[in-house]
Amino acid sequence: MEYIGFTYVSNFVSERVEEALFEAYNDVNRLLEEWRLPIRLVYLDKLILEPGYLITLETPEGKVRLFPLDVLVDFMDYRLKVELEKNDGLNMNKIFGITSFPLASRDKYFGFYEKFLGFQTERLGRRVMLLSMRPFESDSMRMALKILDNPLADDDLRSLAERVLSRELPAFKTRLIKGMLHEIGHSFGLEHCPNDCVMNPPQTLEEWDSRFLGYCDSCRRKLERNLLADTKGKD
Ligand SMILES: [Zn+2]
Ligand SMILES: [Zn+2]
Repeated sequence: MEYIGFTYVSNFVSERVEEALFEAYNDVNRLLEEWRLPIRLVYLDKLILEPGYLITLETPEGKVRLFPLDVLVDFMDYRLKVELEKNDGLNMNKIFGITSFPLASRDKYFGFYEKFLGFQTERLGRRVMLLSMRPFESDSMRMALKILDNPLADDDLRSLAERVLSRELPAFKTRLIKGMLHEIGHSFGLEHCPNDCVMNPPQTLEEWDSRFLGYCDSCRRKLERNLLADTKGKD
């Protein structure tokens, strides 16, 4: 079995979104088991970064507050290293983090396309994967979260926002699951694919919603082959 450490990086996620995040985590593991793929996510814990690392970036979407990508990668790689030192012999050389803010570095702002796809890098044989949940939030979901976060919002407005959120969260969760499967696929050597498949990156949210929730036959075979080659390499 190949284990992937799972964490989420945030200082400001609403309880409802956090719930959806853990449902997505469970669903991904359930799907991997159903598909008989020997990969599992292992929840490590929430990663909290000091607010001092926060930067404000001018972007095409206006000013955005976020943690720089290089800082995130450092923290996650360190977290994985600590875990590996605790559990000697654990087959886990990958860590997956979900962030509630857009992915960007100090000098480069990723566009919508890249944000969807997340970011991966390798350090001394350890792979760090990051996925932002931001592109999976619809405008109405974002609006509802803003209202619920505002102490001045009155009860009528809050109950409206609650209803909107209940309607939007299931779709958000499914988008997130597809995004997680996409990144997991990359981490085991899959490339982008033109089929109805999670490895086919979307241009829009609608396109992502209509995408099949799973790997196409060709990606699945490739994934199985790569996993087998991985295991053999370790013998
Ligand atoms: Zn991709
Ligand atoms: Zn495919």
